[in-house]
Amino acid sequence: MNILVTGGAGYIGSHAVKHLTACGHSVWVFDNLVYGHREAVDAERLIEGDLLDGALVESVLREHQIEAVMHFAAYAYVGESVTDPGKYYHNNIVGTISLLEAMRRAGVERIVFSSTCATYGVPNQVPIPEDHPQSPINPYGYTKLVIEQALEDYRHAYGWGYAALRYFNASGAAADGSIGEDHSPETHLIPLILEVALGKREHISVFGTDYPTPDGSCIRDYIHVDDLAAAHLAALEKLEPGSAIRCNLGTGTGVSVREVIAACERATGKPIKVVEGPRREGDPPELVADPAGALAAIGWRAEHTDIEALVASAWRWHKEHPNGYAGG
Ligand code: UDP
Repeated sequence: MNILVTGGAGYIGSHAVKHLTACGHSVWVFDNLVYGHREAVDAERLIEGDLLDGALVESVLREHQIEAVMHFAAYAYVGESVTDPGKYYHNNIVGTISLLEAMRRAGVERIVFSSTCATYGVPNQVPIPEDHPQSPINPYGYTKLVIEQALEDYRHAYGWGYAALRYFNASGAAADGSIGEDHSPETHLIPLILEVALGKREHISVFGTDYPTPDGSCIRDYIHVDDLAAAHLAALEKLEPGSAIRCNLGTGTGVSVREVIAACERATGKPIKVVEGPRREGDPPELVADPAGALAAIGWRAEHTDIEALVASAWRWHKEHPNGYAGG
């Protein structure tokens, strides 16, 4: 299939591109490289451009006879979305509508969309099933929820098939060490801990040790990017005209911040200095997926369920690329 991957030079997108290509699909990457990395994708497959340029998107869709879109491109810093909401509403919503309209003009009617567990807000039930109310607590989560609704409206109006995949905590790196996580600035727990292991950072701060969890730190569901990549293809293969797939992508197992740190110590063989800090605003105590919906809807379940192995895959990337893609 001819597939356009927006944000394909980013962390999750690049792992999806690798998987789709390995499965024999013809993949084109559309990325403005604001946060994506040129080095993460095959240069011949990269189209540098912005989704807000609808005419360019339309011409790319037509030229490469695209049959489906995987839409990863978005800004994803929760904290920044609170302090600079316009940036998020403009890029994530206006940019996506520009994409959807270009697809409409070009007659492309299948899309797999990167949504998030942040659309649930603070859950009243854990593990979280897909029919849990969606009530985001930050602009980032709202932008994703708005697009979920837009996709439902496009399905209703035009008979499109779509999948909205709600990721939990994407982590890990490709098994062969070729691509990995490189955010600037980095805010995510696992890469920050690995920076401590590399000696680039003096300590890791635990954001809150008084949560109502067994060890007092927050619990999250860490899902390997290669599992996310496989889920995208599984979802795409299920799309029919008029189909709506909405599912969580998580392991179903919660891991606390302290447990992640311990797993990093084991995987790296290095002691990690920990400083206990205050809670970070807007962090729910526990976010864990109910993964049953994904199994039923797209026949997918996470394969990489061992946190130490997951961290080890990330460690391989960080050790070999201590300065990310910039370091070669
Ligand atoms: N966290 C932490 N110290 C850090 C970064 C993150 O304790 O320096 C915690 C954070 O409070 C959350 C978990 O680690 O409970 C995962 O955070 P991350 O930012 O990686 O992902 P999020 O869950 O916010 O999407």
